[in-house]
Amino acid sequence: MVKTGLYAEIIVDLAVRKTDHVFHYAVPQEFEDVLQIGSRVLVPFRERQLAGYVVGFGLPESQVHIREIAGILDEEPVFSLELLELARWMSESYLCSTAEALQRIISPRLQVKSGREVRRIIPALAGEELEQIVASMSRAPRQAAVLRAAMASPGLSVKELAATAETTSKTVKLLVDKGYLAAVKKTASQDTSGYDGPQFAAGYGALQLNADQTTALEQIEAALKNGKFNTFLLHGVTGSGKTEVYLRAIAAALQEGRQAVALVPEIALTPQMIELFQARFGSLVAVLHSGLAGTARYQAWRRVKSGEAPVVLGTRSAVFAPMPRPGLFIIDEEHESTYKQDDHLRYHAREVALKRAQQSGSVVILGSATPSLESYLRAGKGGLYHLLELPARIGNHPLPPVQVVDMREEIRRGNRGIFSLSLIEAISRRLERHEQVILFLNRRGYANFVVCRECGLVLKCPSCDISLTYHLDGRLRCHYCNYSITLPTLCPKCSSKNIRHFGVGTQKVEEEARRLFPQAKILRMDSDTTSRRGSHERIINSFRDGHTDILIGTQMIAKGLDLPKVTLVGVINADTTLHMPDFRAAERTFQLLTQVAGRAGRGSLAGEVQVQTYTPEHYSIIAAAAHDYESFYRSEAPVRRALGYPPFNHLARLLLTYADEEILTKGALLAKELLEKIVTSCNHPIEVLGPAPAPLSRIKGQFRWQLVLKGPHRNTLKDVLKESLIILDKERPAFKPSVHVDINPQGMS
Ligand code: ADP
Ligand code: ZN
Ligand code: ZN
Repeated sequence: MVKTGLYAEIIVDLAVRKTDHVFHYAVPQEFEDVLQIGSRVLVPFRERQLAGYVVGFGLPESQVHIREIAGILDEEPVFSLELLELARWMSESYLCSTAEALQRIISPRLQVKSGREVRRIIPALAGEELEQIVASMSRAPRQAAVLRAAMASPGLSVKELAATAETTSKTVKLLVDKGYLAAVKKTASQDTSGYDGPQFAAGYGALQLNADQTTALEQIEAALKNGKFNTFLLHGVTGSGKTEVYLRAIAAALQEGRQAVALVPEIALTPQMIELFQARFGSLVAVLHSGLAGTARYQAWRRVKSGEAPVVLGTRSAVFAPMPRPGLFIIDEEHESTYKQDDHLRYHAREVALKRAQQSGSVVILGSATPSLESYLRAGKGGLYHLLELPARIGNHPLPPVQVVDMREEIRRGNRGIFSLSLIEAISRRLERHEQVILFLNRRGYANFVVCRECGLVLKCPSCDISLTYHLDGRLRCHYCNYSITLPTLCPKCSSKNIRHFGVGTQKVEEEARRLFPQAKILRMDSDTTSRRGSHERIINSFRDGHTDILIGTQMIAKGLDLPKVTLVGVINADTTLHMPDFRAAERTFQLLTQVAGRAGRGSLAGEVQVQTYTPEHYSIIAAAAHDYESFYRSEAPVRRALGYPPFNHLARLLLTYADEEILTKGALLAKELLEKIVTSCNHPIEVLGPAPAPLSRIKGQFRWQLVLKGPHRNTLKDVLKESLIILDKERPAFKPSVHVDINPQGMS
């Protein structure tokens, strides 16, 4: 990492450009010893000064127009070679600039720019000497006061010290100049790190691993010893003790002198989870997530970078943790769509973790009760991953029985309400016994599909097999290929008039529940009731403490909660997920139902799950009810294969947005033409679908249309998109819509 010349190669951070600009700058003599790869610098660029990153050293091709680096922004490099390599890979994979990727990687660092430049004042002489000086200062009481204050509380800033001694900064500086006091630069982490040496908590090893856990851990430990890139898919049912395997694997990585990061979905990063890690690894743990305030996040980042905190627990962005020698990457609930960043730089934390592990010879553990099809396929015969299975709950606790309730029957019986008779009866029983109930509703803003309430028919696109979505123009549309039909007045299958669009919110469910169970204490948890800070915890605590009988909620309550008194989970309707206009709808339904079912019967009381649906014959519902991942996979995989969807193919989305819909649609057609031309000329078997309105066809006055690309190789998809972006950028200055690219999107709202 030592420089080899007087010229540095610098990526200049030009916000507006998607491409990298690497420029040579001369290194002034005074920077020669401090400048390294990874240093963040200030450079003159045209008339401005911009930030840049040193990515190498070397001679420029010509000496003309070479300018000098103006300043160094940090005391030490902000990224390592490993992370620079990662940024380059991200720029290739996600079609962003390396500068953008670097920004994302070091973002906790960037949040604290000015704060850390503060100088701390400490005594420069021994205590006795200073006291003598103070004693001799009878004619300079202000200076004496400053010295006394500096001895009493070393480490204050100039301003703070001046305030303490009731004088001005000038007096403090005078004493520094005289050599009585010293100004030291300290990084924020040194101020308050609280680090007190390695610490493993007592109680470690108190749990006796069961046979499946032991087998899994043995293989992971062997791979860690081996020190080579290796990926495991830990497929364990809910409550099978995956977390314990993670904790032991982390301990094993530490033994090898490596660091470990464990990623959990946003929603699962609960205080209980953090406590669990801290109980095992004490102060070796750093928690990294984007919700942390600037300084706290920076301190955690520093502790990771320095090696003080070799165990990182965090959400998506913690995958960039600056560990000096990473050895283990754990992704819990690896199927979760929240691992994909869905704005701006659309990276997938699982892909990034795999890349970093490959670069650093690390082990990856992907854990889930319901693995993504992508991961399960790779863990199959001859695949890249090793499959580790935990098929039973700890202590062989049974998984709760799941009853599927056919809502079509309810209509036939004359019950047009939200609750089936069966669910009403089950809830009443729980209320009598003073047990608790969770009612779950998956609500997505764009779940605007049409269902026949007599026969359960949902209208789908004949070529894409995704549900058609009801639009304001009164037509039903496919969001992938733009196929459309008029809304039928009679069901095409059973001729019922009872075909209409569907959707019920949590508020409606709450109203209905209050009407049916006036004596019950009911709380609702969704984005409306939890927008205020702390309200999430308040609702959960009220429920945990038994002050609430029925908790009604969305995705938020589906995971992570360990509530022993919950003996009934009701899914109000499985169809809102099942008929999302997305090729992953069935997979999401299976995952969600499995997760929700995992909330019931976790204590000593037996649990029960009821799932209401108009399509009880759907394989994802049947498989979830049977707790049978294998059977779900066997039904879903052929559908994906036949329609050319991931994991057998790759998909990309080009989202176009603009305030004027006419200009937008014209632009979308132009983009389609361009893409087809590129595809034909380079002879790639890529299909270009659309343009079609996106499921959320308008956000904040911006209309949204999309093109969907399907092809067998990620790289060719990416290359085609890259070329189209370059052409749109350079050759079509009149092209107005904003363009957003997402390769292998996790959802397309
Ligand atoms: P998962 O993450 O697979 O859903 P958890 O890790 O939450 O499962 O484990 C469920 C419960 O079982 C936890 O309370 C955990 O402490 C406990 N547990 C895990 N392993 C063992 C074991 N070997 N013996 C006893 N209890 C265990
Ligand atoms: Zn029908
Ligand atoms: Zn279609």
